[in-house]
Amino acid sequence: MGMLSGKKCLIMGVANKRSIAWGIARSFVREGAEVAFSYQNERFRENAVELISELPDPDKIPLLPCDVSVEGDVPRLFDELGKRWGKLDVLVHSLAYARNEDLTGNFVDITRDGYKLAHEISAWSLIECAKYARPLMVAAGGGSIMTMTYIAAERVVAHYNVMATAKAALECNVRYLAAELGRDNIRVNAISAGPIKTLAASATKGISTIKNIYEERSAMHKNITQEDVGDVGLFLASDLSRCMTGQTLYADYGFGIMAIEFGKE
Ligand code: NAD
Repeated sequence: MGMLSGKKCLIMGVANKRSIAWGIARSFVREGAEVAFSYQNERFRENAVELISELPDPDKIPLLPCDVSVEGDVPRLFDELGKRWGKLDVLVHSLAYARNEDLTGNFVDITRDGYKLAHEISAWSLIECAKYARPLMVAAGGGSIMTMTYIAAERVVAHYNVMATAKAALECNVRYLAAELGRDNIRVNAISAGPIKTLAASATKGISTIKNIYEERSAMHKNITQEDVGDVGLFLASDLSRCMTGQTLYADYGFGIMAIEFGKE
């Protein structure tokens, strides 16, 4: 019996094998979960099919399209999943997007459209996903929703600009959703992960430098891996975290707690 045996889990945001969502999927499958995936568009479908083929019983794994920026895609996704599964225990929301110029340019130059786009895809989409996941989780007797955030929401990190403001909104959404869905026994939490070289992270200028800084300054002097985040996701999906909701959990080897460290003397 795995920790997630009998649990049905939808994972949104697998772009390729380096995706954080894929790390979470692997931890879930290891612990006996039944998984489904959504992919943004045809560009990502082939990758998803290839990755899923590595999992047990790939033919039984629902793989459904969903571009959260397209009106109607999210309700369609949950409607389809409801027909297939009838219930949902866990939702992983692991997606974000901002235009390059709104990440690397001057903060004061962020445009109205760029701001709207980043916030719609990276923060508002969690609200819409939670809305349509809710009845399926009620049918399951409760559920766990998790999303991915970054410390740039709280403190300034170069080249995060509009994504930092979107993550701040996302973390606030987590608290409001947790408060509202708690009565349905649905928990909502965020994982604030350290830097990992993924497709989305490659849009951030200087990701290699950021990783070096983490290794140097985090409490445990290590960099986060996909597997590390996968296992924090597993904890949030499992009943072990049953009393936790509305939280941001830091998967960062203690980077976020540090201010000044004296070297070894
Ligand atoms: P990734 O590129 O592998 O995943 C990003 C996913 O977002 C992709 O699957 C992409 O298809 C999806 N996406 C973008 N726009 C979408 C849309 N309109 N509709 C549906 N899906 C859409 O990168 P990742 O690093 O695994 O990112 C996953 C999450 O983790 C993001 O929220 C990211 O901000 C967050 N995060 C990443 C890091 C890091 O260093 N990699 C650190 C902290 C938080």
